[in-house]
Amino acid sequence: MQTIEQTKNEAGQKAWNKRPLIISGPCSAETEEQVVQTAQRLAATAKVDMLRAGIWKPRTKPGMFEGIGAKGLPWLLQAKKLTGLPTTVEVATGKQVHDALTFDVDVLWIGARTTVNPFSVQEVADALRGVDVPVLIKNPINPDLELWSGAVERVARSGIKNIGLIHRGFSSYGNTEYRNAPMWHLAIEMKRRNPELLIINDPSHICGRRDILMDVAQKAIDLDFDGLMIESHIDPDNAWSDAKQQVTPEKLAEMLDAIKWRYETAEEKEF
Ligand code: PEP
Ligand code: MN
Repeated sequence: MQTIEQTKNEAGQKAWNKRPLIISGPCSAETEEQVVQTAQRLAATAKVDMLRAGIWKPRTKPGMFEGIGAKGLPWLLQAKKLTGLPTTVEVATGKQVHDALTFDVDVLWIGARTTVNPFSVQEVADALRGVDVPVLIKNPINPDLELWSGAVERVARSGIKNIGLIHRGFSSYGNTEYRNAPMWHLAIEMKRRNPELLIINDPSHICGRRDILMDVAQKAIDLDFDGLMIESHIDPDNAWSDAKQQVTPEKLAEMLDAIKWRYETAEEKEF
């Protein structure tokens, strides 16, 4: 694979070091207008540090919307140019790593369905060799800390210096209050084992619904997580994926205002 021309990633680095780190944006990039408008409305809140959007969506069943694909990457670049928000995208293959970096995506993340598969994690890690980009690693869908740690180790061995964790809960059979049970003790144990890694919480995929997002977000902050990733959409009910759990950028801002942060201002906490 050809080497990736990287531009200097200052905005991404600055956001990476910000506490609390707040990432938001749609589950999926759908159209250029949707990505750009979401980014503009998020930027207008002045409470969000990084724009997320799924470009390639690992769906449980075929025939559903599987992501817009690489054609959505220029939309993210455009959103970044217009708002200054650095971008983050889920990658699951070497080609996706390459495509995302070609369009100056600032931070990559490995999704829960990829963390479970060491072959896929290794492929992503191999594509990252020689690249300087921060990588967030979601917990695997099943409650297995060794699998999560294994993914961290594979990415670290590829030379990536900035690695972070995303706690998005764990899948279980049957109906529960949560889409993915938080099993907080596992995230706490992962944090204990990896004190040097930042860990953020993803209330959207834990809850699967809007009405309990706030409780989960508050609990994560009470447990001293370093930030939150929460999905937002300009028209949540009509989102092409994860419609039930997305909120508008303005609703997100209300939630962030309502959270009791455990230190006075973000700047006061030294890292
Ligand atoms: C997502 O972030 O939209 C996503 C697919 O998440 P997860 O990997 O946690 O299921
Ligand atoms: Mn989603």
